[in-house]
Amino acid sequence: MRKPAPSSSSSRPWLALVGALTAGLATAPAAAEPAAELAAAAAARPNVIVIVADDLGYGDVGFNGGRDLRTPRLDALAKSGVVATEGYVAASVCSPSRAGLMTGRYPQRFGHENNIPEEPGNNNLGLPVAEKTIGDVMKAAGYATGAIGKWHLGQAPVFHPNRRGFDEFFGFLGGMHDYLPGRASQIERNGVPVKETRYLTNAFGDEAADFVKRHRNEPFFLYLAFNAPHTPMQAPPGYLARFANIADPTRRTYAAMVSALDDAIGHVADTLAENNLERRTLVVFLSDNGANKTYGGSNAPLKNGKASLYEGGVRIPFFLRWPGTLPAGRSDDRPIISLDILPTAAAVAGANPATKPLDGVNLLPYLRGTNQGQPHDALFWRRKGSAAVRVARWKLIEPKDNDEKMYDLATDPDESADLLSREDSTATTLETRLAAWNRQLVPPLW
Ligand code: CA
Repeated sequence: MRKPAPSSSSSRPWLALVGALTAGLATAPAAAEPAAELAAAAAARPNVIVIVADDLGYGDVGFNGGRDLRTPRLDALAKSGVVATEGYVAASVCSPSRAGLMTGRYPQRFGHENNIPEEPGNNNLGLPVAEKTIGDVMKAAGYATGAIGKWHLGQAPVFHPNRRGFDEFFGFLGGMHDYLPGRASQIERNGVPVKETRYLTNAFGDEAADFVKRHRNEPFFLYLAFNAPHTPMQAPPGYLARFANIADPTRRTYAAMVSALDDAIGHVADTLAENNLERRTLVVFLSDNGANKTYGGSNAPLKNGKASLYEGGVRIPFFLRWPGTLPAGRSDDRPIISLDILPTAAAVAGANPATKPLDGVNLLPYLRGTNQGQPHDALFWRRKGSAAVRVARWKLIEPKDNDEKMYDLATDPDESADLLSREDSTATTLETRLAAWNRQLVPPLW
């Protein structure tokens, strides 16, 4: 029998190693293609749209079994693509999750481990400029690039999306924003303040549809990062009226905000169809982290939520849809992560993904079925003194100030039965993997 791990930090070899200089980053697994078909697809320079929801819970979309909310547009898109039922993000809060998506690298490798403090002029608080973004990669490949919505990767001019690979930006630079017109506004277009009169989620959908229309005759990359359904909880009366059946007013507002999000994404989908772009556009959808249950979200059937390294914090709604290239009506339970989006988009564009080693992999061979293996042999998380690792069905978690635990996600997705002492050798393997990963990281920059 394995001894229960003491709760002191001495039981966590990685903690002592945090801050150790990395001797060399892990080598990213090699992409298993390009096959001739994909090379041909890349020659056609298909478009890529990455749609991010904010604090949307795993269980709050119809395609993951949500019942009281209604997401028909998202469900239809998901049904025409591949749903990743075990899709993850690299962090359980907004800013580091986005830093991972933007770079294809674990954000803890470059100190972007925590949310950015709200100091708009601070040149040290943002996605480090030594990191290349997905916008940089797609722009260098000749794509028209746009970012719409919430940025949350630094508010100083040096971090502005227009300087991080995006030709166009419409949205706000901070971590949250009012939705209703007439409230405080930091909305801008390419650095110029805009007086916005639309419900913000509708505005982002309109702007995205307009971007697609304007660039329909050239390859484009659009990063569409809604702030819905993140706080403040604000929905227009017409949307609230759709959910009169939900008694809890917080849940009702959350449902209304998600419904507006669904409509806005439907607007983008309609625009793709109207312009005959569906078969030449990869659409990726995910949430940046799990829902905050205090504000009406649900991560059912997963444990905990936003800010936690349990599944409810980091496993999120996730699908990829590309009619004619990816299969339709499939779900795939192999674990993937938001870090895979950059190398996947780069493969679509035939672009050189990056100059630094990536943690993500090109998902296309896996989703198309030409590679039956696992995209990742391990996934890792670290935040504020807690850390976790997933290898195959096993997840080991080191909660801050608490005993190490291990769960079998295949039989226990809500992480209720700690198997650490029963599965001693597996636990040792996972501890070793986690410690090795931690040795490659740097301390948080803020
Ligand atoms: Ca978030």
